[in-house]
Amino acid sequence: MERQQGRLVEVAGSETLWPAELVLLALGFTGPVAGVLESFGVDTDARGNALAGSDAEGGYATSVPGVFAAGDMRRGQSLVVWAIREGRQAARAVDRFLMGHSDLPR
Ligand SMILES: Cc1cc2nc3c(=O)[nH]c(=O)nc-3n(C[C@H](O)[C@H](O)[C@H](O)COP(=O)(O)OP(=O)(O)OC[C@H]3O[C@@H](n4cnc5c(N)ncnc54)[C@H](O)[C@@H]3O)c2cc1C
Repeated sequence: MERQQGRLVEVAGSETLWPAELVLLALGFTGPVAGVLESFGVDTDARGNALAGSDAEGGYATSVPGVFAAGDMRRGQSLVVWAIREGRQAARAVDRFLMGHSDLPR
């Protein structure tokens, strides 16, 4: 892979065969599955992540009403502490969207 304009892109012809008895794949820095975002019609940022802010008002809301995004899907590959924080804040945003208010902590 090589990084092009902030995205990892496969290098054509770079495939290599390695003899192995066991292969453990630990991959994940490839961004959200585009088909999922496309099927929801969610706008994406330049890196292919779901476009959504993290402001107190309107935070985590995507371009599609009722569709929220948080964690790696929103901010790109990052740390689990950010995913936890964003998940909690997004839960509050969803609660406010559904109920008009929320008692969940921000
Ligand atoms: C190899 C690797 C090592 C890492 N090491 C560290 C580390 O040492 N420290 C650290 O802080 N962070 C680390 N991270 C980053 C951390 O794991 C992520 O930032 C964090 O897990 C993001 O949480 P998330 O909930 O946003 O996304 P995820 O944890 O990726 O959760 C997304 C979930 O959605 C599910 N999903 C995807 N598509 C669909 C679908 N169509 N339908 C239903 N479910 C779906 C997936 O199966 C997954 O369970 C590492 C990441 C990787 C890949």
